[in-house]
Amino acid sequence: MLRWLAPGYEQRALSDLVQLRGQLRLAAIVLLLVGAPALLLAGLALSSSRGQELAVWEEVRRGAELAADAAHGQSKAMFDEFEGAVRQRLASGRSASDAPAELSPYLLVAFRVDSEGRVKSPFERSNATFRPEADPALHPRWREATRLEQTPGQAEQAAAAWKALIGTSRGVRAQALAHWGHARSLAGAGQEAAALSALDNISRSFAQVRDVHSFRLGDLARLKRGQLLLRSDPEQGTAALTALVEELISARWTIGQGGEHALASRALELLEDHAAPDWLSAARGRLEDRTRALFHAELLVGELDVVTGGGASLRVSSQEFAYRLTQSALWCTLWWGDDLYAFALDRAALVRRVSELGQLSTAGDENLTADVVGPEDAAPELALSRRTLAPWLPGWAIVVHPSAPDRLYREQRLRQTQSMAVVVLAVVLIALGGVLSVRVVGRELDIAHMKTDFAANVSHELRSPITQIRVKGEALMLGLYEDEADLQQTYEAIVRESERLSRLVDNVLDFSSIERGAKRYNLRPLDLGETVRAAVEAARYSMETRGMVLELGLPEQVPVVAHDPEAIAQVLQNLISNAAKYGRAGGWIGVKLAVLPEEVLLTVADRGIGIAEDQLPLIFDRFYRSPDPLARRQKGTGLGLTIVRYIIEAHGGTVDVRSSLGQGTTFGIHFPLQRHPARA
Ligand code: ADP
Repeated sequence: MLRWLAPGYEQRALSDLVQLRGQLRLAAIVLLLVGAPALLLAGLALSSSRGQELAVWEEVRRGAELAADAAHGQSKAMFDEFEGAVRQRLASGRSASDAPAELSPYLLVAFRVDSEGRVKSPFERSNATFRPEADPALHPRWREATRLEQTPGQAEQAAAAWKALIGTSRGVRAQALAHWGHARSLAGAGQEAAALSALDNISRSFAQVRDVHSFRLGDLARLKRGQLLLRSDPEQGTAALTALVEELISARWTIGQGGEHALASRALELLEDHAAPDWLSAARGRLEDRTRALFHAELLVGELDVVTGGGASLRVSSQEFAYRLTQSALWCTLWWGDDLYAFALDRAALVRRVSELGQLSTAGDENLTADVVGPEDAAPELALSRRTLAPWLPGWAIVVHPSAPDRLYREQRLRQTQSMAVVVLAVVLIALGGVLSVRVVGRELDIAHMKTDFAANVSHELRSPITQIRVKGEALMLGLYEDEADLQQTYEAIVRESERLSRLVDNVLDFSSIERGAKRYNLRPLDLGETVRAAVEAARYSMETRGMVLELGLPEQVPVVAHDPEAIAQVLQNLISNAAKYGRAGGWIGVKLAVLPEEVLLTVADRGIGIAEDQLPLIFDRFYRSPDPLARRQKGTGLGLTIVRYIIEAHGGTVDVRSSLGQGTTFGIHFPLQRHPARA
């Protein structure tokens, strides 16, 4: 017995080794086909998710750069325009301090300063000081003359009182003011010729003297004269007043004094119905411009020395614009010839305008906001792009930053998740594919393994009966058996072994024609009970000689079932032979046919070793042989049950198995009953 077992174990070890090699090769292939691409993909995913993160910010940053460039370019254009206008104005020989509004809407006032640091135009600094004790108007006689002048109907008395004061007053200013009072009273008294000559006298002798309100007497006299002439000689009056207005507007006004403005306004009022309307409105506009400039000049003149550096550094001339920020203005200075121009620009309005340009440049992108940031302002967090506004607005910059960083972070996360999801899906699909291919390849490997087993098993199965028959035949030939009983045993063994041999050959041949799809069965409506009985009886002899008890249970009446009797006999042969192989020595085998309402049930039962539950679904597979050592002790090819199932299915039936380890096994073959009413 051991002699037979040893080669079997060697063979199994060899085949296990082959199987192991196959599995190793499979693992290597899987690693190459699944592991490597999955790893590669995961790496790709990581780098692509990092790329997505950068991409979000890169897009926004690019937008921010463009927006900052646009806002900066437009701001530069604004200043370039101003500088160009100034140069053009100066090149044409006109003063840059005239008509500031024409140079820039942000220009408040422009000063021309000479090389000594003195303001030359359009205004001059006042050096008058207020001296109350020098004011003659406080004297009682002056007060009396003034009272008379203001009392209706007393103009002549007033004229006389002023005349008396002319005689008694000392000092140029008191003289001049008395003359002025006299001329007024003459005009009030209707003495026009005398009044005109008195006014002419003032214009000649006291033009530069200022009255208590700081008006120049020359200007006041010319205004009064024009007013008087308008009545008697309107043409001459209009000409006189027009000339006065022109002179007043272009004169150097004194910073801190508004006399020119008041007189020019009054003259324009008088000219309302006389002068050409176009001239009137143009003159009003120019007057307004100068008045506004004077207002700013008064506010800003204090900074002028700081900006021009006083007289100290004035001699350096470069014809370049220089910018400087002060508390109230943006100052721009330019040397032109021997003169220094200082332009005061409206700093707040300029910052507002640059902010507007920033907002316009980011208007197309909801993710971006542009701010104009000064030296004292806190720079926005996450500044994406920054353009300095120097040299025009030193210390200021346009800063473009994300309007809602949270939204950008969210988008970044979303993109990352999306790319990760795609990659995870791809990895999962690859893994699934891998698992599937492993299973398919594993299955194929198993079958290949079973085929090698099969080849070994078949040769083994063939050798065994052939050897038996030969040995027994030779013994008979040599007349070695004399005992009748021995002889009988030898004949029986020869018959049994040749039966085994033919069963094996039948199975192999049948299997190969089944595999080729060439196997055909000849189904005939015959008595199934009879077929079963014949098959069992054919096996009985061989079983009983092996010490088996073969029990057959047939019902009295079996309905007609279409079947191929040879094929069903082969089924029974296989099942009974298995029951004997895997049964116990001297065991019991029960074959039973039962008629149920829907089917005819043929069962083959034994009380043998049984089949483990996990193997039950596999035993009908081709070449399958149980790995259980108890089962392996028996020789076999793994084809018997495959053929059984094929035959039964070809009969339209099904086969199933119930088994418990160590208890026994029952195969059930179900032939469905077809109702043939015609036959009934
Ligand atoms: P074999 O040639 O191995 O008998 P089969 O196709 O007939 O091939 O059977 C397949 C496997 O099913 C056997 O190897 C055995 O493990 C199991 N088997 C079949 N019939 C029985 C039975 N009656 N009792 C226990 N095991 C059985």
